[in-house]
Amino acid sequence: MTTRRTAVDVAASVAAGELTASAVLEENLAAIDAREKDVHAFNVVTADRARERAAQIDADVKAGRNVGRLAGVTVALKDNMCTRGVATTCSSKILEGWIPPYDGTVVRRLADAGAVVVGKTNLDEFAMGSSTENSAFGPTRNPLDTSRVPGGSSGGSAAAVAAGFSTVSFGSDTGGSIRQPAALCGLVGVKPTYGMVSRQGLIAFGSSLDQIGPFTTTVADAALLMEIIAGHDPLDSTSLPQPAPALLPVLSQGVKGMRIGRITDMPEGSSPDVLARLDAAFDALQHAGATVVDVQMPSMSYGLTAYYLVAPAEASSNLARFDGVRYGLRVDAKDLNSMYGDTRAAGFGDEVKRRIMLGTYALSAGYYDAYYGKALKVRRLIADDFAKAYQRCDVILTPTSPTVAFKFGDKTSNPLAMYLCDVFTIPTNLAGHAAMSVPFGTGEAGLPVGVQVLAPALGEAPMFRVAAELERAV
Ligand code: GLN
Repeated sequence: MTTRRTAVDVAASVAAGELTASAVLEENLAAIDAREKDVHAFNVVTADRARERAAQIDADVKAGRNVGRLAGVTVALKDNMCTRGVATTCSSKILEGWIPPYDGTVVRRLADAGAVVVGKTNLDEFAMGSSTENSAFGPTRNPLDTSRVPGGSSGGSAAAVAAGFSTVSFGSDTGGSIRQPAALCGLVGVKPTYGMVSRQGLIAFGSSLDQIGPFTTTVADAALLMEIIAGHDPLDSTSLPQPAPALLPVLSQGVKGMRIGRITDMPEGSSPDVLARLDAAFDALQHAGATVVDVQMPSMSYGLTAYYLVAPAEASSNLARFDGVRYGLRVDAKDLNSMYGDTRAAGFGDEVKRRIMLGTYALSAGYYDAYYGKALKVRRLIADDFAKAYQRCDVILTPTSPTVAFKFGDKTSNPLAMYLCDVFTIPTNLAGHAAMSVPFGTGEAGLPVGVQVLAPALGEAPMFRVAAELERAV
């Protein structure tokens, strides 16, 4: 295992000239050489570009030029974030050979701040899944136990940080794809408030649900990265007209006087080791001066059902653009319609096809009201339940995932079992709220357990206060 460096330390040391960006990068590349063949976190490692970039930063430091708040911090990017000149595949065959002509806003903000991109990480195809087993390029393994999944869909990004391949990484979260893999790999993972972080250059899955967020080893690193990537972007019409929140200053504030919600009618099915850690988290916060209050979320268990109509509906529309003409793969055929059909049949994997069919069905005339329309009503109810709960508390705690990391193949034959992984994470996306997973000790087989801190829209500051307290307590 390589030494764990934090982004806060790397940036400070590199800017001060005490450590070079090149040295940090070479540590990561050595770790990649040693373990990537077992872990398969990356679709591509961009070593040459990274070396050039690191050398440039080191030269800037030497010359006394301004190097930014992330100088020399190595980052891995989920392979659904557009990177100029570097293939972006969504771990799908349908994007084979496509190279984006531009960087997404988050990618650009990271570069401007001095970060060094080491590569693009593996994911469940088009971010549909909870284990990274749905990648067209083969699964990613959990570096903590390679017989187990890293979670998903941002499994490659989680594995990259857990294996020491990069200081930090980024994923996208539509229904839990940052928080669940963070929990399963023992990392901090943040799903920002909808609209807080630009989606420009993120290949869309469910446009009303998707957000980009960081994976880190510490809460402070997550706060630093949020300060850099968040904030209004005129290129994303759903971007909130808000500056990035100041989060580093709240980390030392403690939780005295804060009200922490405990859901009394929480969906069942979590394993006892996970529930024991949740109890310990409530105790720790109480001990630190917070009050635990009971809240109800009667609609929480309907989140999954609503999500599996809304997300596939949006996906069926978003993925219509992959038609063999505009991007990537094209399978030649006798006429246009056969070319569309053959390209999509060859390019998309089973789970993506399942979602497109589900979504198309839910949106079709005659079924729209019964399925899609009904799901939107449930979405509203969930938001209403949260609104009621947040009258009584500042944040809510739940498990992030009902279990620790599971074994390969455990859930692949049963999509419904896989979907249940996200029972606690999905309601946040439906409501457009903020949430994060914080590692809080271990459960079965000594594997990490994550506690989820849920906050209302724009509740990042209280959320990070509580996360920092949990980190101190553990
Ligand atoms: N696991 C969920 C799904 O399969 C969530 C995925 C995500 O957040 N991208 O849709």
